Amino acid sequence: MSKRDYYEILGVQKSASSDDLKKSYRKLAMKYHPDRNSDDPSAPEKFKEASEAYEVLSDPSKRNAYDQFGHQGVDASGFTGSTGEGFNDIFGDIFGDIFGGGDPFGRRQRSNKGSDLQYSMTISLEDAVKGVTEKIAIPALESCSSCGGTGAKAGSSPVTCTSCGGAGQVRTQQGFFSVAQTCRPCSGSGQVIEDPCNKCRGQGRIENRKTLSVKIPAGVDTGDRIRLSGEGEAGFNGGPSGDLFVQIKVLPHDVFERDGRHLYCEAPITFIDATLGGEIQIPTLDGKVKIKIPEGTQTGKLFRLRGKGISPIRGGSTGDLLCRAVIETPQNLTKDQKKILQDFQISIDNNAKHNPIKDEWFDKVKSFFESK
Ligand SMILES: [Zn+2]
Ligand SMILES: [Zn+2]
Repeated sequence: MSKRDYYEILGVQKSASSDDLKKSYRKLAMKYHPDRNSDDPSAPEKFKEASEAYEVLSDPSKRNAYDQFGHQGVDASGFTGSTGEGFNDIFGDIFGDIFGGGDPFGRRQRSNKGSDLQYSMTISLEDAVKGVTEKIAIPALESCSSCGGTGAKAGSSPVTCTSCGGAGQVRTQQGFFSVAQTCRPCSGSGQVIEDPCNKCRGQGRIENRKTLSVKIPAGVDTGDRIRLSGEGEAGFNGGPSGDLFVQIKVLPHDVFERDGRHLYCEAPITFIDATLGGEIQIPTLDGKVKIKIPEGTQTGKLFRLRGKGISPIRGGSTGDLLCRAVIETPQNLTKDQKKILQDFQISIDNNAKHNPIKDEWFDKVKSFFESK
């Protein structure tokens, strides 16, 4: 079987820099990755071809040998005896961010860390402002207590795989090349369990639900994430557990709206109170507070209650509660009540000092039309 030129496979010049090689390989690997090409039978072959080319050209000494002697040069330079270690590095580097660190060939994982878990928690505004401790039940793979996570029955332990000698992969000769394949008897772990643990059936981990108390600090807001180190899935072969991330969502509130550290609310005020002045009760998260309404209050006036907002989780001063006055126009009046207002209307008619806003507005409208 004659092999294609490695530079040709990667579509680069002989003078290509290591960055060029990596870029080009990454592009090809994405294109032909077996996970993305389940319907293209030629993809795995092309993927392997590109991987092989990159493995050689990304190693300066192998590249040098290949440049001088071609495919045979690489073969002679000890490529066959490669441990595959460099290959794993490449995949960790190139695929780590795309395929979640998994190896496309399913070979031995470098990290035994368990997966991170995410939990979405919905809390009330009150709880977000004051902080709360919530109990949550999460499904979790936990290290098997019976075998201590090894998967081997108590008293026994996993033994080194005899098929691969613990390497997790075996090599078969194809032309000048040896091709690495996952060792079947040990599924690439390098170890086999001769006497599996009954409880976890040799998996080392068991599925469980665990209840956790999560302390939500005061001041959290939608989008905040709380990390609970080591509360994710159990690791493999005694590796560390992943983390649990609690994603916070704060429910809308009937009365208050939040904007960062400030709270907003609306307070309906009768037009009598607004006209004559009075007192109203404003709700705060700590209970009701009485505030004075000055004479002649207009819709939109903001009453500020300092320090009745939210203490930010990342420090800084506590926000305010801002209450917006909304004047309510009386409705469903009786004949007599309407008569009173009509009399009142006559009493103030044509006197601009009672309606300065209206008066000013008419002046503006007038000059707008005159300027046309
Ligand atoms: Zn077990
Ligand atoms: Zn093996």
